[in-house]
Amino acid sequence: MTTPANTGSALWSAQAHMPSVLGRQLVIARGEGNYVFTTDGQRLFDGTAGLWHANIGHGREEMAEAAAQQMRTLETYHVFGRYLNDRAVELAEKVASLSPIADAKIILNSGGSDSIDVALKLARRYWQLQGRPEKTMILSRDLAYHGLHAYGTSVAGLDFNREGYGTDSLVPDTARFDTHDIEQVRRTVAEIGPHRIAAIIAEPVQGTGGVIPPAPGYLEGLQQIADEHDILLILDEVITGFGRTGHWFAAQRYGIRPHIIAMAKGISSGYSAVGGIIVAPEVWAPFYRTGAPIYRHGTTYSGHATSAALALKNIEIIEREGLLDRVLHLEGVLHAELDALAGDDRIEETRVAGLLGGIQLRPELSAERVTDAMVDEGWIARPLRGNVVQISPPFTTTDDELRGIVAATVSALDVVA
Ligand code: PLP
Repeated sequence: MTTPANTGSALWSAQAHMPSVLGRQLVIARGEGNYVFTTDGQRLFDGTAGLWHANIGHGREEMAEAAAQQMRTLETYHVFGRYLNDRAVELAEKVASLSPIADAKIILNSGGSDSIDVALKLARRYWQLQGRPEKTMILSRDLAYHGLHAYGTSVAGLDFNREGYGTDSLVPDTARFDTHDIEQVRRTVAEIGPHRIAAIIAEPVQGTGGVIPPAPGYLEGLQQIADEHDILLILDEVITGFGRTGHWFAAQRYGIRPHIIAMAKGISSGYSAVGGIIVAPEVWAPFYRTGAPIYRHGTTYSGHATSAALALKNIEIIEREGLLDRVLHLEGVLHAELDALAGDDRIEETRVAGLLGGIQLRPELSAERVTDAMVDEGWIARPLRGNVVQISPPFTTTDDELRGIVAATVSALDVVA
């Protein structure tokens, strides 16, 4: 085997076509507010909040203090068996109090992909325990992104994330259903047989699939199907959780009551690696009865104390600074800006839900080239599937910065198109 020349840094980038990115990598060294700075000193507006996670902005002193204080006291202690740590307990209580699910239990872990594995394993384990072992199928939406661990890869609705592993799905019994049309979903459920279906999983607003808000009635329809057929409804709120739609959870915005919510990213605004799931009483109660089996989840860093301290401080900042209301305000600004692009024939469609915006370009244009041109001018945006430019800055973004990044997209289109 020959080694290609110029293989760059020892760090193998995530989700990157390595031959294309080599020589054009941006190394970020510092963050401050809504901006990050490269090692070359370029200042970039973080128009995507990193990977939709930097919701309170970068470089907050108060967060650094919270981490240092917790580390001086107890860096962490695990939460296996009889052991807990006080920060993990406090975070679970806080998340349960914000949750749309009453009397919820919280499982904590290290990120979104972890949360999906834990949620989907739990769905299957739950039906086994209920004496319904035939209920193993996991259904997900076309264009869905649920992270890249084994379960997330298996339920991916972006087919390219499932390709190349020798089987269509790394875990057994998965299938996809339509992203927009609830009648199609009903037909898929009927074809598979509801008695075989353990869970339906969906992002309330699809992110990586191209910023796709739910069609009117769609999420309500999923809830109805789940309720009618004894199917668990799992909402993947890894992007939408902790404020991105102007509510703590999108379930609250859309009036949905799922059985399980997966979370990560915004729970700590990326200051620490935290994720987890929120579990409804009907799902956790069977595991809390005398004689119940163990649900075998857990990793060394489930409920990591310093991570939990940072999540708690992040939630405190969102509350104290009224950032949910700020998101609702910014949603209005973004809507107005994107609606004003309606006459631009280079743009096929624009979509907004909360502080999540997508500008879908005509197929002959390239969202990748547009976002490359934007970064040269100091604006980070991201190309998504479907030729979409993603705009999802921190909640602390000013109106002018938000208008600025939309204007920068149009300027980049002028250069590239
Ligand atoms: N679910 C959704 C909806 C996501 O957008 C992501 C990440 O972008 C994940 C799950 C996976 O999260 P993580 O990258 O923290 O593993």
